[in-house]
Amino acid sequence: MLKVDKVTKYYGNVLAVDNLSFEVEKGQIFGLLGVNGAGKTTTFRMIMNLIEPTSGKITFNGKKINYDVTDKIGFLTEERSLLTKMTVKQQMLFYGALKSLDEDVILKRLDKLLEEFKISEYKDRKISTLSKGNQQKIQFIQAIINEPQLLILDEPFSGLDPINVELFKKVILKLKDKGTSIIFSSHRMDHVEFFCEKLVILVKGKSVLEGYLKDIKDNYKIKNIIIQGDVKVSDLKKINGVINVVKTSNQLKVSIKDKSFCKDVFEYLKTRNNITKFALEEPSLEEIFVSKVGDEYGK
Ligand code: ATP
Repeated sequence: MLKVDKVTKYYGNVLAVDNLSFEVEKGQIFGLLGVNGAGKTTTFRMIMNLIEPTSGKITFNGKKINYDVTDKIGFLTEERSLLTKMTVKQQMLFYGALKSLDEDVILKRLDKLLEEFKISEYKDRKISTLSKGNQQKIQFIQAIINEPQLLILDEPFSGLDPINVELFKKVILKLKDKGTSIIFSSHRMDHVEFFCEKLVILVKGKSVLEGYLKDIKDNYKIKNIIIQGDVKVSDLKKINGVINVVKTSNQLKVSIKDKSFCKDVFEYLKTRNNITKFALEEPSLEEIFVSKVGDEYGK
């Protein structure tokens, strides 16, 4: 288990991370969310022990993270850091050796992973000749070649096309099933929603929301009602408890203060006679994120 305990980081007098605490269990996917400059990369660097926290403690399975432990950790950095003059195989042999792996183990795992990522033909190609997306696959393979117990992914999907996003997701879920603890950052809430059981949202280095995704959604009072049919936006806006109405191509999304106001909307719909859809939905993580981060930025 990874434990981040009351961690604060100052760069000079810039407060990058402010008294942050969270835990990631074995086989859990954890999301570290925040806008640019929120402190995500700084947190990852502290977990990897590349920089020291100003105060607080980070442990993995009860131990401080040092060189022994980093062999069991995989890190996909945000700034891509491949040795582009090397071939894929040379890069993996070099990196795998840094993780104390034997050559035959590295080569066996590399073949399997290249196949999984559908790029076996690039094994002896210079990395500089690969496309950006394929370089990202190589960087990802590098992060997992040591079959890590803890995998840190800083913006793993940036720059990938939708097909490759799916491929990465598949591999990440497989690693989770094998018991790898995974912590990742992303600006894409749909990805986070798909994966994360638990998350923290950072604003200016401080946690403004944390916990299990399900609890976060349950506790967020504002709900949405999706309606299809012949209704007037102006009528809906007048209903008690309605705070917003958004019209998309074929339906309306009505936001209500809390689910007790559902019946007020339903009463109105009973006066219309061609409603084909009426559904109460949880807010998306994107809505919660925008609302939480927006509130905190306004302070
Ligand atoms: P992004 O999503 O843009 O990558 P982030 O959430 O990863 O952002 P960090 O890179 O951790 O954010 O930065 C957090 C804060 O610390 C920012 O205010 C940033 O300017 C500052 N910062 C980061 N690295 C340094 C450094 N080496 N020296 C001084 N300040 C720094």
